[in-house]
Amino acid sequence: CGIIGHTGMGTNGDVSEVLLNALSSLEYRGYDSAGIAIANDPLTVYKREGELSELETALQTEELEGRTGIGHTRWSTHGPPSDANAHPHTDCDQRVAVVHNGIIENYHEIREALEANGHEFDSETDTEVIPHLIEAALDQNDSPETAFRRAIDRLDGSYAVAAVFAGHDAIYATRYQSPLVLGVDRDDYYLASDVPAFLEYTDDVIYLEDGQFASIRPSGVEITDERGTSVDMPVETVSWNA
Ligand code: GLU
Repeated sequence: CGIIGHTGMGTNGDVSEVLLNALSSLEYRGYDSAGIAIANDPLTVYKREGELSELETALQTEELEGRTGIGHTRWSTHGPPSDANAHPHTDCDQRVAVVHNGIIENYHEIREALEANGHEFDSETDTEVIPHLIEAALDQNDSPETAFRRAIDRLDGSYAVAAVFAGHDAIYATRYQSPLVLGVDRDDYYLASDVPAFLEYTDDVIYLEDGQFASIRPSGVEITDERGTSVDMPVETVSWNA
């Protein structure tokens, strides 16, 4: 029910603090499980059913590194609340981790086709087809960005999606009939379903439009349309009356 992403210099090499902080600012939206993924090689993925405190407890004893990551609070639509059904979801080889809000209407047929090609699924969610579609594209030697686009092209339904790849300092994101907003600061970039997630860090935002894609790197943000053409989106300053 809530997505967050962050990359940049302001994390002192540990993005998990920003991710947890932002997820807690999205708690008001309601959720039944939560998780994060950090773009290390191998990927760092933690997810837990229940309150955010369950995830925080699991992370307390870990030494986390990495400056690029995504996080999720889930409100289940497909598959009951459980650790396995919590996001992020990954492909078989853990090359990509994906968070998603919304519903993939055609997940059943996609899953059957992928399973027929040897993909094994760990969850009952509609979301898990996305990392496996990305994996199938990576297997065809697509770049992470192209693989992400190709996977999204296959989806019907409503979605806000963000993905990180093992050892690759970038977040790829898109939306269709589900909200997604970017936060921009000098050397730090944020992504969330709603502005309060990152408002304590920046109030300069770009509202992503339906069908647009964002590539978010520590060096900057690029927004493209459905065809991959760069688009200039206005940066707006939100005034927020708490
Ligand atoms: N449909 C997805 C699931 O059930 C995403 C739910 C959400 O928006 O949190 O896992």
